Amino acid sequence: AKELVHAVDRILTHADEVRRMNVRANADSPEDAKAARDFGAEGIGLCRTEHMFLGDRRKLVEEMILAKDDAAQKAALEKLLPHQREDFVGIFDAMDGLPVTVRLIDPPLHEFLPDLTQLSVDLAVKEAKGEEITDEERELLTAVRQNHEQNPMLGLRGVRLGLKIPGLIRLQVRAISEAAARLIKDGKDPKPEIMVPLIGSVREMQIVRDMAVEVLKEVEEETGVKLDIPIGNMIELPRAAISADTIAGESDFFSFGTNDLTQTAWGFSRDDVEGAFFNDYFDYGIFGVSPFESIDLGGVGPLVDIAVARGRKTNPEIKLGVCGEHGGDPQSIHFFEKVGLNYVSCSPFRVPIARLEAGRAAVENETTYITQFVPTE
Ligand code: PEP
Ligand code: MG
Repeated sequence: AKELVHAVDRILTHADEVRRMNVRANADSPEDAKAARDFGAEGIGLCRTEHMFLGDRRKLVEEMILAKDDAAQKAALEKLLPHQREDFVGIFDAMDGLPVTVRLIDPPLHEFLPDLTQLSVDLAVKEAKGEEITDEERELLTAVRQNHEQNPMLGLRGVRLGLKIPGLIRLQVRAISEAAARLIKDGKDPKPEIMVPLIGSVREMQIVRDMAVEVLKEVEEETGVKLDIPIGNMIELPRAAISADTIAGESDFFSFGTNDLTQTAWGFSRDDVEGAFFNDYFDYGIFGVSPFESIDLGGVGPLVDIAVARGRKTNPEIKLGVCGEHGGDPQSIHFFEKVGLNYVSCSPFRVPIARLEAGRAAVENETTYITQFVPTE
């Protein structure tokens, strides 16, 4: 078994020598970040901050979204700030010296708010029993009803929520920059990047960028620490892929969210398909069983290709990566090598596979290049 481990290590080391793309991992806790590093990850490509608001903190998010007025919202946000700061200190420290892409919160609202049907039933039962319904309960029901969505995965998510509650963007940018400033003061080398989810138009990106830059400057002045934090966005909507030329003017990097991009390109509900008709689609080969079709990533590939070309045209320096499930999928990794992404990001356990495939893909591309230009007899 020891020999096998050595052999695998040798192969991976060789793949690392030849590969062109970097391999990062998706992680949102210091433990996962450490595991990713042990598997050879060269950074975190996606830190899903909504995962940091589950458990005990869910209540605070609910308070913030359902706040009656600005003062109540501000108070809820202030309670969240120290938690967020500590989250980031932990994860930046675990990845010291390597990039950590922190995605601003992207919660489908239904994961954070009480269920409308349940709440209505509970109150109706109370009323039927002749118990009194308090003003507070009535207000909660109204607020939940106002925020209820039929399709939360296509609703007030990602940047849309951030624009509705600008304090939320400010809070997260502040927590990221305060955490980085503190670590720099301690002699560490944190490398955070701020990523905006579900961008559909350059206007959204401009507004978020202006807010983020303002907060970064505030924190620089308060702490006396110079911060250099790239601000980029996810490409998860066909509209974003098509308008990548304009968005790239406001963005330091793109990361392809192929989970949502598949949902939005095909019109599938990602929460419903897996147990339903989706498998038939695989069985019928609609996503492609032939190598040619699968390179297409089920139709999502051309959108990636378009966004890469248009993004680089406006901003030749733009960094490009992928952090959806395709980032850890061998065939897709070959596609990403071909379109010229800078990195793939996948679950920590898939990092070794991704390193290997990125190496193979680089060699394959080189071979294609050579055979193309060697004159045949
Ligand atoms: C994606 O949409 O591909 C993505 C990485 O984001 P999430 O899965 O968190 O929506
Ligand atoms: Mg997504």
